[in-house]
This record gives sequence, C-alpha cells and structure tokens, in this order.
Amino acid sequence: MSHDNCLFCKIASGEIPSTKVHEDEDFVAFKDIHPAADTHVLVIPRKHVETLSNCTQSDAPLLGKMMILVARLADELGCAYTGGDTGFRTVINTGPGGGQEVYHLHAHILAGPRPWKRMG
Ligand code: 5GP
Ligand code: ZN
Repeated sequence: MSHDNCLFCKIASGEIPSTKVHEDEDFVAFKDIHPAADTHVLVIPRKHVETLSNCTQSDAPLLGKMMILVARLADELGCAYTGGDTGFRTVINTGPGGGQEVYHLHAHILAGPRPWKRMG
C-alpha cells in the first residue's frame, strides 16, 4: 500500500483521529481501536515502512529507537518489567503469514490481566 493511502500515515499526521499516548519527531504511539488487553498501544514510525521484512541495515537506528521507545512507553503506561509477575508483550506482525492487517510497520504493546482477546 502506498504512503498516500495508508491508514497509519493518516493517524500519524492527525488526518484520522486516534487516542495518542506519545508523539515525537520520529514516532507516534496511540491506543489500538480494538484492544486485545487492558493496555494495547501501537507504536509506529512516522516514516512509511510497510513491514519488518522491508527493513534493511539503514533502518537499524529507527528500529533501535523504536524498541527503546516501546520500553519507555511500557514504563509510562505502568506495565514495565520491574520484577515479580510484571511485564508486557511486544508483537510485530509481518505479512499475511504473520497476521499483519495494516501495512505500516507497528509494534503492539500488550499488558494487563489475562485472558487477552485473540489478535488476528
Ligand atoms: P496488525 O494486525 O496489522 O498487526 O495490527 C493492526 C492493528 O491496528 C489492529 O490491532 C487493529 O485493531 C488496529 N487498528 C486498525 N484500524 C485502526 C484505527 O483506525 N485506529 C486505531 N487506533 N487502531 C486501528
Ligand atoms: Zn504509512
């Protein structure tokens, strides 16, 4: 899917509304519209990258920053791993085989009491 017709590019730009929990120069994070758990946030780069399989060595800084942001947001959302039974799940679905529905790279952050709803 092209950048022009991409749902998450439109969410990043604000053209389509979302409940944002974070915004910076490179990334946007917002609540999933169909949450599978009490905490379900999507972290996306502003740059339109279709899938993890499209990433190359030149995307390493972007992916590194994205994972650090995931950990920081998990902390802010109150679900960081701080010992005991705390923590969260990070999921990146890639391609139809991985259950990807929106073709703009995104990391799911999921946390909260089980059971969680099925994703994909
Ligand atoms: P995927 O299956 O591609 O990994 O995940 C896409 C996710 O985007 C799904 O969990 C779905 O609920 C979420 N989603 C789809 N459309 C929208 C939308 O318009 N707004 C928000 N906030 N989330 C969406
Ligand atoms: Zn996009």
